[in-house]
Amino acid sequence: MSEKIWLSSPHMGGAEARYVQEAFDTNWISPVGPHIAAFEEALATYNDIPYCAALSSGTAAIHLALIILGVKAGDEVICSSFTFSGSCNPIAYQGAVPVFVDSERLTWNMDPVLLEEAIVDRHKKTGRKPRAIIVVHLYGMPAQIETIMDIAHRHAIPVIEDAAEALGSTYRGKKLGTFGDMGIYSFNGNKIITTSGGGALVARNATWIQHAKFLSTQARDPAVHYEHSHIGFNYRLSNVCAGIGRGQMEILQTRIEQKRKIYETYREALENIPGIGFLPEPDGHFSNRWLTTILVDQQRSGFSTEDIRLALEAKNIESRPLWKPMHLQPVFKNAPSYSAGVSEELFRTGLCLPSGTNTTKDQYLQIVETILRLQVTNPALR
Ligand SMILES: *Cc1c(COP(=O)(O)O)cnc(C)c1O
Repeated sequence: MSEKIWLSSPHMGGAEARYVQEAFDTNWISPVGPHIAAFEEALATYNDIPYCAALSSGTAAIHLALIILGVKAGDEVICSSFTFSGSCNPIAYQGAVPVFVDSERLTWNMDPVLLEEAIVDRHKKTGRKPRAIIVVHLYGMPAQIETIMDIAHRHAIPVIEDAAEALGSTYRGKKLGTFGDMGIYSFNGNKIITTSGGGALVARNATWIQHAKFLSTQARDPAVHYEHSHIGFNYRLSNVCAGIGRGQMEILQTRIEQKRKIYETYREALENIPGIGFLPEPDGHFSNRWLTTILVDQQRSGFSTEDIRLALEAKNIESRPLWKPMHLQPVFKNAPSYSAGVSEELFRTGLCLPSGTNTTKDQYLQIVETILRLQVTNPALR
């Protein structure tokens, strides 16, 4: 069996090991140390936002954002339905209720029309407006973020931007994660850059980020002994992991260029197959193309996304269906949802293709050939 081709695996640039060695040499092996501040500084500068807290995961960042915004048990929080569960699990951690909003077809992200409908309808049904909105930029593609921010402002509801998959993506030249009241990033192993596991919270409000750092280190009040007047969390990023992050920040721009080129390679090779569709960038939207995704119209192609997935799997190549919408997940079956069936259809007809920046040209050729061969072997097309 040939070497496994992963969907998107960690890809070190070279400087990471030096930063990690430095952490060892100076014995800063804890969630305290100089790499943490330097990584936060690098992220803040890159995204052009003043304040940043480095945390143990993107999920932890969303959880702290909800706490800082005052989300409590029984509150409702709107969230994109088409996402990974890390976006909405923190709502449940707070004992709050997720309200899911479906996607539009242009970016596959939160539909602004359904968002407004959801806000008005929840207000009518519960007498209260949702307490916050979590909007996700899936696969690196910017949501219609300005329209969504306008709606949120009109209803005075704060927005958390889940840019876990979209570090480096921009809308009209401005980095994602900086439009909302707070933004989050993830540095999990498969994201565009990684700290092996980690996340960050960014904001323009210094007090919020200070509070996030306080809560993430067990909420210790200033005292010689351990004094606590808040419930804290163990959510800080370790100095060792922040060292990896510093090295990864140095090659982030290169990774974005590589990811975009991978998308172009697939598009050029596959766009002429009848029934295969890509997700182009609408005007003003710049995607980091974290993962290349396709839609397959089986009526026209003669094969399904599952046929592609199985053909790739037979060659030890990993691909994956698009995220299963949260409003279809058993665990959230009782959550209110506002859907027009778009994310459901995307889930049924979409596939994430292997998009690793450490995958070779020859391997990409092999992937493309495997997909092209489905046309030939399909009896319906002969
Ligand atoms: C990865 C991811 C998260 C969670 O990040 P972790 O660092 O894995 O906790 C949240 N939202 C989306 C959309 C993600 O892809």
